[in-house]
Amino acid sequence: MDHAVTAAQFSWNDARRWLDGLPGGAGLNIAYEAVDRHLLHGRGDKVAIRWIGKSGERQEFTYTDLAQATNQFANALHDLGVMPGERVFVLMGRLPELYVAVLGALKARCVVTPLFSAFGPEPIVTRAEMGDARVLVTTPELYQRKIRDVRERLPGLKHVIVVGAAPSDEPGVHPWGVLVSPASTRYTIGHTDPESMALLHFTSGTTGRPKGAVHVHEAVLAHVVTGRYALDLHDDDVFWCTADPGWVTGTSYGIIAPLVCGVTNVVVEAEFDPQTWYGVLERERITVWYTAPTAIRMMMKLGAEALQGVDLSALRFMASVGEPLNPEAVVWGLKAFGRPFHDNWWQTETGGIMVSNYAAMDIKPGSMGKPLPGITAAVVRRLADGHVEPIEAPDVDGELALKTPWPSMMRGYLHEDERYRKCFADGWYLTGDLAHRDADGYYWFVGRADDVIKSAGHLIGPFEVESALMEHPAVAEAGVIGIPDPMAGEVVKAFVALKPGFEAGETLRRELLGHARKRLGAAVAPKQIEFRDNLPKTRSGKIMRRLLKARELGLPEGDLSTLESDEKKGAP
Ligand code: AMP
Repeated sequence: MDHAVTAAQFSWNDARRWLDGLPGGAGLNIAYEAVDRHLLHGRGDKVAIRWIGKSGERQEFTYTDLAQATNQFANALHDLGVMPGERVFVLMGRLPELYVAVLGALKARCVVTPLFSAFGPEPIVTRAEMGDARVLVTTPELYQRKIRDVRERLPGLKHVIVVGAAPSDEPGVHPWGVLVSPASTRYTIGHTDPESMALLHFTSGTTGRPKGAVHVHEAVLAHVVTGRYALDLHDDDVFWCTADPGWVTGTSYGIIAPLVCGVTNVVVEAEFDPQTWYGVLERERITVWYTAPTAIRMMMKLGAEALQGVDLSALRFMASVGEPLNPEAVVWGLKAFGRPFHDNWWQTETGGIMVSNYAAMDIKPGSMGKPLPGITAAVVRRLADGHVEPIEAPDVDGELALKTPWPSMMRGYLHEDERYRKCFADGWYLTGDLAHRDADGYYWFVGRADDVIKSAGHLIGPFEVESALMEHPAVAEAGVIGIPDPMAGEVVKAFVALKPGFEAGETLRRELLGHARKRLGAAVAPKQIEFRDNLPKTRSGKIMRRLLKARELGLPEGDLSTLESDEKKGAP
């Protein structure tokens, strides 16, 4: 694809030719586009999902198998009396049932919320409460460890479907084998309004609770376009996205886009381990690979030698997302894999890839690439009156903005209209990321405009971490920031001031680390805790994370006019 030509000729309406729509004009349903329609196009016997388990076991599901299994799940929801629009939460590792549950629930026109299985009980309860979870699909082990004790806090959660043996005597807990396996393999998807809610993805903000980004079935148009343009998916591809479906990349590109494009989607249950991963690339003859900078940095640490003798002849295209991809990583990729990693950029709110280095384009290492055909991007300046002004000059930093609307744009933050409205001005969606555009039209990531933390590709809200720390009886105040880390990009660090009568020391530090880990889970909990007598605050009492960070990293402290006056004197 020539980017300039394609972008000039592109129209979202023309791109609809890549989708079928429900038979009889019954609307647009993501799961129908991802699964059922392929049976009508002669792809029924093609492998849709090839699952590689932790011990190397393999299971294959053709598009026909997947159509039948997802029909069973949709029927099971119906049998439970679950209605269209109700929320089905999924909490489990990358097991085949996860994929069946997500697609089956979409067929039933339920709203799917995938949760990260490494979340602790607090992030789970917060999201399930906010999102009004009606059904939870999980494993017996995760149920015991994370749900059982908090279930009474979720009165709206009527059904738990467990993949495996159900713990006995638990009301509303249904083993998959009893509920789903015997259900009929025939199901007709009901009329699906393209603008009806399909996915609810929680993402973190600087303040307050996480935000529930609402996505609709129409988003599938962006998934097919980005699958073809940004990931270069073609009919014969064998695709592997390493992201977990608990995060948006693992859903949009670990489930939906590859299946909508009709390729074979490889799912690997194991976390990063060079032998497993390189083995998958070789044995499965992966042609298109979508991974992330943290994993690439781990591979770089091991060195290109670890790849010696690995047959990568099938590998055609490699892409990366989620965090800044250092130029060295692109160069290293070229040396180690014989091909570069193509960086691309998007976020939960955009629903799909928005800026990308395309297969047919020269890569500038360190750049996120150019806007997707159909997407108008700009670097803008926010003005005092609430308006924004695009910055025309190249190489000037500002906020990355996208012209509204596009098919996969979030349609709201659940129950938070004001917060949603604040993301838009003058027909632009404001991303909260700082960037600049060079004279050739390539975009370069500069940083976040807010306090959210990106650790190993996962977005973490400081407020959620601070709240968990504050629940500990010893903690008077907590301020949480991200500090640079050579492997994870950033790690979470907490500054804590104690209540009178508690003594700062190693024992308490360990206790607080353990407390946070138990509440939040390993992926979200702080890795470091430092005690302070007091924390810098604004006059209105808000902890100034920006200042904590500047002091931690030895950066300029910036404007201190709102800082509480005794803080200025007593600053550590
Ligand atoms: P999430 O919503 O969890 O997918 O996180 C989105 C955020 O991740 C973006 O707003 C960026 O801050 C960051 N991000 C995603 N892709 C890239 C990239 N290619 N380069 C730099 N930062 C990225």
